Amino acid sequence: MPDLYFYAEQVVWQEVPGETSLAFTISGCTLGCKGCHSAQSWPANAGIPLSPALLLEKLQKYRGLISCVLFLGGEWQPKLLQQLLQLCKKQGLKTCLYTGLDSPPPGLLPLLDYLKTGRWQAELGPLGHPGSNQRFYDLNLLQEQSWKFRQTAQNSNSKNSVATQSRTNTATISTTITTTATTKTTSEGLLPCND
Ligand code: SF4
Repeated sequence: MPDLYFYAEQVVWQEVPGETSLAFTISGCTLGCKGCHSAQSWPANAGIPLSPALLLEKLQKYRGLISCVLFLGGEWQPKLLQQLLQLCKKQGLKTCLYTGLDSPPPGLLPLLDYLKTGRWQAELGPLGHPGSNQRFYDLNLLQEQSWKFRQTAQNSNSKNSVATQSRTNTATISTTITTTATTKTTSEGLLPCND
């Protein structure tokens, strides 16, 4: 089986509130957002392969120092990402995905504790901005927690069109999460970019 490639690796504290996360910038995003800060990682083979063996090696290196593994992308190869997420869970770590999609492939949700959705749209602002299209969820609590990224209450008079877009996105992902919660109840499975 081929591997996902990663372009950068970093320990971060702010991207997943309350967790110390080892973050991997996964190569191969195809969304092409204008103003993307990770454009160097767009080629699928940028960086080096993140094989399960290499990931395990890195998790053992950071054992006791991190509580979560954050994947910045990778949902475009859901089977490969699933394999890596399963490995993280077996090591007793929480997991988070930052995706540019409004709703990731449902097969990933049971392996995630946290999820950030929404592509980068500079005119709408970053995660936590009142008009932003991006959302952050605690999937164990089934709660949207974008407010944790809100630094100042500003732009309260955002344009109506922006507010409508935000409500639509929230409804879409809420439906997905609710569906997953039902699946968890009935199957005993688990519940569950960048910018
Ligand atoms: S989703 Fe994220 S990584 Fe992909 S192009 Fe947009 S900003 Fe860049």
